[in-house]
Amino acid sequence: MLNNSIFKKIIDKKTKANIIYEDKLVTAFEDIKPKAPVHILIIPNTFIASLNDIKESNKDIIAHMLYVSVNIAKQQKISQEGYRIIINCNKNAGQEINYLHIHLLGGKKLNKI
Ligand code: 5GP
Repeated sequence: MLNNSIFKKIIDKKTKANIIYEDKLVTAFEDIKPKAPVHILIIPNTFIASLNDIKESNKDIIAHMLYVSVNIAKQQKISQEGYRIIINCNKNAGQEINYLHIHLLGGKKLNKI
C-alpha cells in the first residue's frame, strides 16, 4: 500500500484536487481515476490508516463520513437513481492508499457486486 502522504497533501492543499466539500472533520474530493460519472472520496482530516484502526475513541468519525457522503450524493443529484458506498480494507479488498476513505460512486448503473 502507498503511504498516507497523497491524501494528507490534499487536506493540507499541497496537492491539487477538486475538493467538493470540507469541514472540521472530513474532506471530500473527486477521485483522480473515476470509475463512474460521480466518484468522490471522503476522508477524515485526522489520519486513520484503515477500518482496522477504528476504535472506541474515534468511531464517531465513521458516522460523520457516511452522513457527509449521503449529503454529497443528494447535492450531486444521484441519490434518487442510487449510488454505492465502498470502503476497501487492506490488500484482499484492494486498498491502495493507506488512509481510510469512503468511495462514493454513482451517475450510472453500477455492476452488481
Ligand atoms: P483504494 O484502492 O485505496 O480503495 O482507493 C484509492 C483511490 O484513490 C483510487 O480510486 C485512486 O484513483 C485514488 N487516488 C490515488 N491517488 C490519488 C490522487 O493523488 N488524487 C486523487 N484525487 N485520487 C487519488
